[in-house]
Amino acid sequence: MKKRVIVIGSSNIDITIKVPRLPREGETVLGKRYYKAFGGKGANQAIAARKAGANVFFITKLGRDSFGEEYLDYLMSSEIPREGIILDSTYPTGMALIIVDDKGKNQIAVAPGANANLMPDEIYPFEYLFENEAIVLIQHEIPMETVEEALKIAKRNDAMTILNPAPGKKLRSEVLQSVDIITPNEVEAEILTDIEVKNLDDADRAGARLLRMGSRIVIITLGEKGSLLCRRDGSRYFKPFKVKAVDTTAAGDAFNGALACALSVGRDIEEAVIYGNAAGAITVTRMGAQSSLPDKLEIESFLKEMGVMI
Ligand code: ADP
Repeated sequence: MKKRVIVIGSSNIDITIKVPRLPREGETVLGKRYYKAFGGKGANQAIAARKAGANVFFITKLGRDSFGEEYLDYLMSSEIPREGIILDSTYPTGMALIIVDDKGKNQIAVAPGANANLMPDEIYPFEYLFENEAIVLIQHEIPMETVEEALKIAKRNDAMTILNPAPGKKLRSEVLQSVDIITPNEVEAEILTDIEVKNLDDADRAGARLLRMGSRIVIITLGEKGSLLCRRDGSRYFKPFKVKAVDTTAAGDAFNGALACALSVGRDIEEAVIYGNAAGAITVTRMGAQSSLPDKLEIESFLKEMGVMI
């Protein structure tokens, strides 16, 4: 039986303006048009898991404004249940303003809006969903007290917890003890452990430290170098799938969503890492965030093409 994947996290509207060069302080630079996209790590990972075939419940907060309405319609048309989507009358929908120049360099400012107002007590009404071995997937774009409370609720209901610690932030050992699987990238692993991750040995040491701090399993995603799975009885390196990368946005979100999905259908952790690596690799071959996330069929035919049987 498929387990439920509960994603708790952010939803942002991303507005991107392409400009010939980035503005200096106080300067106005003209671009041509702006592009609007649905983003936020929570929503990206919820959509990634849903597209990969999981039974997803997404708890998020949008503003009661026109962006919120648009986001709500979009999430519902993406087969995300309405019940977990909370509308906030005080704060606007979260937004990221992105300026990108011709060479791909960017400047980003984020206004978390309603995401910063997703409070711990708003998770309680959904506690019944955490039963029956649910898999709970959380990131760092909502208040830390909500992250911590969600982990506690998950643990008292015997749910499996996956924490994608992005953006990177130091965590207390007490918090890590409620985490079954933590999935930092190289930068986040360094923030968490103070070990600079430049190669596999460094990643292995950072992984060992996170295990000592309390996480049951550590997966360090290494971008174009694949990923490293660390457990108390040893670590295993997974090579990346060779692809032509055009835009690495949302690779980690694809990885986390697909990982959770694979675990929810009964795959073991090693198979789930391979599934996540495949989803991440496909995502980097396309432009955009949610629009570049692969579905179940694409992940499966990609794995077949790559000669991987799982
Ligand atoms: P994040 O977006 O959080 O920084 P990563 O860049 O580590 O995450 O990417 C997540 C996963 O996606 C990696 O572990 C890897 O499997 C896959 N991936 C990312 N970039 C590439 C790439 N250039 N080629 C192949 N796979 C990639």
